[in-house]
Amino acid sequence: MQTDRSQQLFERARQRMPGGVNSPVRAFKSVGGEPFFVQRAEGACLFDVDGNRYIDYVGSWGPMIAGHNHPAVLEAVVRTARDGLSFGAPNALEVDMAETIARLVPSCQMVRMVNSGTEATLSAVRLARGATGRARIVKFEGCYHGHGDSFLVKAGSGALTFGEPDSPGVPKALADLTLTLPYNDFDAATALFDTAGDDIAGLIIEPVVGNANCLPPREGFLQHLRELCTRHGALLIFDEVMTGFRVALGGAQARYGVAPDLTTFGKIIGGGMPVGAYGGSRALMERVSPAGPVYQAGTLSGNPVAMAAGLAMLELVQAPGFHAALEAKVHALCDGLEAAAGAAGVPFSTQRVGGMFGLFFAPGPVDTHAGAVACDTAAFRRFFHAMLRQGIYLAPSAFEAGFMSSAHGEAEIDATIAAAETAFFAIR
Ligand code: PLP
Repeated sequence: MQTDRSQQLFERARQRMPGGVNSPVRAFKSVGGEPFFVQRAEGACLFDVDGNRYIDYVGSWGPMIAGHNHPAVLEAVVRTARDGLSFGAPNALEVDMAETIARLVPSCQMVRMVNSGTEATLSAVRLARGATGRARIVKFEGCYHGHGDSFLVKAGSGALTFGEPDSPGVPKALADLTLTLPYNDFDAATALFDTAGDDIAGLIIEPVVGNANCLPPREGFLQHLRELCTRHGALLIFDEVMTGFRVALGGAQARYGVAPDLTTFGKIIGGGMPVGAYGGSRALMERVSPAGPVYQAGTLSGNPVAMAAGLAMLELVQAPGFHAALEAKVHALCDGLEAAAGAAGVPFSTQRVGGMFGLFFAPGPVDTHAGAVACDTAAFRRFFHAMLRQGIYLAPSAFEAGFMSSAHGEAEIDATIAAAETAFFAIR
């Protein structure tokens, strides 16, 4: 595989950008080697600047659930851009977006658009603090909620990958307000609320942890958290930046039947443009400025082109059977990968939830953060490169979920399994 042009670009990038990238995991630090630079993307595939084609299971880290460069999304963007890129004044598409989210996710009677998942989560926590008059928040080990200061405590994905769960620059006084719990541990949650429950403004969770590989909630775990929060007057915040519109049309809250007080979104609702949102009951959201006193704003929030892209994407995921088809593809892929690993005698298991999945180099099932961390990450690294050499792009970290899109067909999935048959033998 020829990669000269990517190598040259990475060399230049490293001179002018920290680590050569604008978001850490892209640098391949945790898997080793150098990233490829993308020229264009279409359907299930990325094409790099050297002309190589990759079947892509990253999907821009989640937004591209209908595949790359979907004609309906592209058309919406081009049509809207013709009328102007940004107005800094209300536009109709923002209203359509808020109505669409409220219809698909009924716990969100009102919605505020922002520009990233990070903005959504830090705004939701501010609102939780403002609404309850309390300062402490609870998060789970291995969950990533963006790079807001309060969340860089035992965070997942990039921070976990680098073994630096706490970042310099986060004041200890602020980090002390973030309490952490082990995911899927009922007793630890009960014990924490027994001791500190009345000081807790909100508990934030990735209902399916996509930033520590892919960890589904144990039966009743989310309900348990719902009950604890209700009992202690704390707000339950589902970070559905990843799971929203992916694990079911109504997100994880619909899949598991638990309604949070606040929900954060990102990724799919931007259709590939920089967008985030947070929403909740009318009573809570009316505390947000200018309706209420909790301040939050954004120059480009509700940007018309971003709204158009997101609305087009949300239209696509509402097609009848969309999520069932996506889930069937995830099962076909994961069954094939498990069979290939079994044939090669490699300890390996998968987790699947709707349109997302996790690959674990350990016997399954893995559904705790400790279990994810204990997996054979060296084996994952070898597997990642053995797949990449065959034109299959998996997330470049053992702690990131994989994403299926509706553009992945039988041909792509069969090609992936065939590549894995070779890769599992190669890495033994
Ligand atoms: N929350 C979750 C669950 C995420 O996966 C991410 C990003 O991957 C974020 C929040 C932060 O979103 P963004 O990268 O758009 O700031």
